[in-house]
Amino acid sequence: MTKLDEVDLKLIYLLRDNSRLSISELAELLGVSRPTVRSRIERLEREGIIRKYTIQIAPELERAENLVLMIIKTENPEKLEEFNEIIEINKFTSKKYVIKVAVENMEQLRQVIEGAGFEVIDIMPVLEMKERERAIKIRVPFKCDYCGREITEEPIVYKYRNKVYFFCCETCFREFKKTRENLEKIRLSKEQKVENTNNHQDHSHG
Ligand SMILES: [Zn+2]
Repeated sequence: MTKLDEVDLKLIYLLRDNSRLSISELAELLGVSRPTVRSRIERLEREGIIRKYTIQIAPELERAENLVLMIIKTENPEKLEEFNEIIEINKFTSKKYVIKVAVENMEQLRQVIEGAGFEVIDIMPVLEMKERERAIKIRVPFKCDYCGREITEEPIVYKYRNKVYFFCCETCFREFKKTRENLEKIRLSKEQKVENTNNHQDHSHG
């Protein structure tokens, strides 16, 4: 895999949450130019790092299916991949697998079992399934925008004045905000002073 730098990782991070962010929005958030964002995305796509942009749909739009978990034994695991009904294949010994099958009825299940030619060791219907949303963990860490250390856990993402910042921990996030707020106060009071002086000058002229 090619080496990814901070900009690449932050791009992936932002697109992971919202793949519809535009080039200009991404450029603004990351504080880089639009051509930079464009060429980075093109490279990430070309190199297969960003594979596709998908959507999530409401579960009620999905066709009702029965889920079945099976422990199976097979000599031809490649055969499993020929069946779209098999939605998950987990290998746990050289010949044993736990597979998840989505079928509309028992007849369809029978067809899968016979077609793929595996031996069923155990079969368990799934009564309720909760797909936990799992955020992609990015392996290569990037740096905390406050302390500069590498972020090893999920970063805290903070949008401030149209730019996005990444922090390693709550403390860095809090400190960053405090510093920003103070800077803001200083800036405001300076502006006010300038305004006051201008007002005085206006008065003296009038
Ligand atoms: Zn930090």
